[in-house]
Amino acid sequence: MYLIDSHCHVHFNAYREDMDEVIRRSLEAGVFMITVGTQSDTSRRGLEVAEKYDGVWATVGLHPNHLTKQEFNDEDELPPNLPPNPSSPSTNATLPYGEVAFSHLVKTREEKFDVDLFRSLAAHPKCVGIGETGLDFYRIPEGLDPEVVKEKQRETARAHFDLATEMNLPLSIHCRDAYDEQLELVAQYVSAGKIPRRGVIHCFSGTEAQARSFLDLGFCISVTGILTFSKDLQKVVRELPLERLLVETDSPYLSPAPERGKRNEPWKVKHVAQTLAELKGVSLEEVARATVENTKRVFDRIK
Ligand SMILES: [Zn+2]
Ligand SMILES: [Zn+2]
Repeated sequence: MYLIDSHCHVHFNAYREDMDEVIRRSLEAGVFMITVGTQSDTSRRGLEVAEKYDGVWATVGLHPNHLTKQEFNDEDELPPNLPPNPSSPSTNATLPYGEVAFSHLVKTREEKFDVDLFRSLAAHPKCVGIGETGLDFYRIPEGLDPEVVKEKQRETARAHFDLATEMNLPLSIHCRDAYDEQLELVAQYVSAGKIPRRGVIHCFSGTEAQARSFLDLGFCISVTGILTFSKDLQKVVRELPLERLLVETDSPYLSPAPERGKRNEPWKVKHVAQTLAELKGVSLEEVARATVENTKRVFDRIK
């Protein structure tokens, strides 16, 4: 039996001391992983890490939180070759769902999506998808016009969708507080005959109706450790077909119960799979078989 953590960031700075150990620990526990890029630096770095390991793949993309200069918890994701921000106060910030981060509050740089750069990264043999990209209306920096920020996110998401179409790669979609609009955008592309490989809505936390609409459009739904403690999410996921679900950790964030508050690692996806098995009334082996199959169907460059 093995599992695939379909969305983690094992190449982020949170693992700068022990990344190889963490990857090996997870692989030895029978957990393969897709490590997801969020900026050009982390996208490049993810591919370098994937190159080194069988059982590790990468995606490349520019996360909506990195389109504008803002302060939030992201020092953990910068690759180790960048110097840490000396001015960043060491403070614990609260992440969504009450998770406490173990990092620093820093100013993130503003990055513009460079399609030529991402096109060349996407051609890498260990690149299995485009993203994470999408709409995040939860984190709109203060002092900026929300409409301008949202428009930038829409434009950048469209650029990712176009690249996914051109490269015939699936999308890893990040969405927060914007599910209905995200659905509309996906539907537009699908009805135009684009994004043929579809993809996955990662870290899903919407309603059952929203999940079903994404499924109808050919997307799969992925769940994180939030599933281990959120009764609302459990209620939704219980109703969704196992043949369309993926599991992930979103490491280093969102550590599942019983590991909440600690740094997350890909092997902990077992807790997510175990909860899913209980919700579905099937064995852990059955969940492993189904979610591995689903992940390989979505990210079909995984061999
Ligand atoms: Zn995300
Ligand atoms: Zn992520």
